[in-house]
Amino acid sequence: MLCGEILRHARRLPYCEPCLHKAEAMSAEHFCLRCRTPFLSDAPLDHQGVCRRCRSGLTGYDYAYSYGYYEGPLRKMIHHFKYAGVEVLAGPLGALMVQALPLDLQVDIIVPVPLHWRRRLWRGFDQCELLARPLESRLRVPVVRAIRKSRHTETQASSTPAQRRSNLTGAFVLAGKEFVEGKRVLLVDDVLTTGATVTTCSALLRRGGAKSVTVLTLARVDRRPAEGRVALTALPATGGAR
Ligand SMILES: [Zn+2]
Ligand SMILES: [Zn+2]
Repeated sequence: MLCGEILRHARRLPYCEPCLHKAEAMSAEHFCLRCRTPFLSDAPLDHQGVCRRCRSGLTGYDYAYSYGYYEGPLRKMIHHFKYAGVEVLAGPLGALMVQALPLDLQVDIIVPVPLHWRRRLWRGFDQCELLARPLESRLRVPVVRAIRKSRHTETQASSTPAQRRSNLTGAFVLAGKEFVEGKRVLLVDDVLTTGATVTTCSALLRRGGAKSVTVLTLARVDRRPAEGRVALTALPATGGAR
């Protein structure tokens, strides 16, 4: 499904062996140490390497990690996983997410960003929950469905950041304070676009008494203009973040 070659051996994944390794890890010369947003220069960062949005505290989360950019083979893999029903991709994709985390990360629970039950029913599975499973064994902490989606929200691809935020207000609810109170939470989503979803969920977790919120996504949208990007070094997973 990636290169168009005929598979010579029966396998559960619709990819040949080389294609399985085509999803590239994020790289950027300049990036925020907390949310890892890539920038064209160091100008938006303060002397501690933190961007303005993180300094403002409005993101609600402490750190954000992603495996790669939402483009190329990784984007195709995510589409196959989400829309073509290739559920078995959850294993390899979840393994990529594990690679994006610092080795010394300490969390108590893993909370997937939920799908509305209607979409879940239609799709047959909840992609974030499936992605969170490989993390459960690697980090040895449980997946807890602490957030529920109370209202169906339209796919957000074409809306503006302001529209997205108002669209999300009240769309998520905490299943119960007892799940998150005093806990260090790893919030898992598939793709980070504007960050509106994880910001909304982080605020909810904070209100429930979460001690810290770290966001982990499989991919993030690179908003830098393509001509200005100079990808010299891969982002180190530990990047001095803690
Ligand atoms: Zn291939
Ligand atoms: Zn930042």
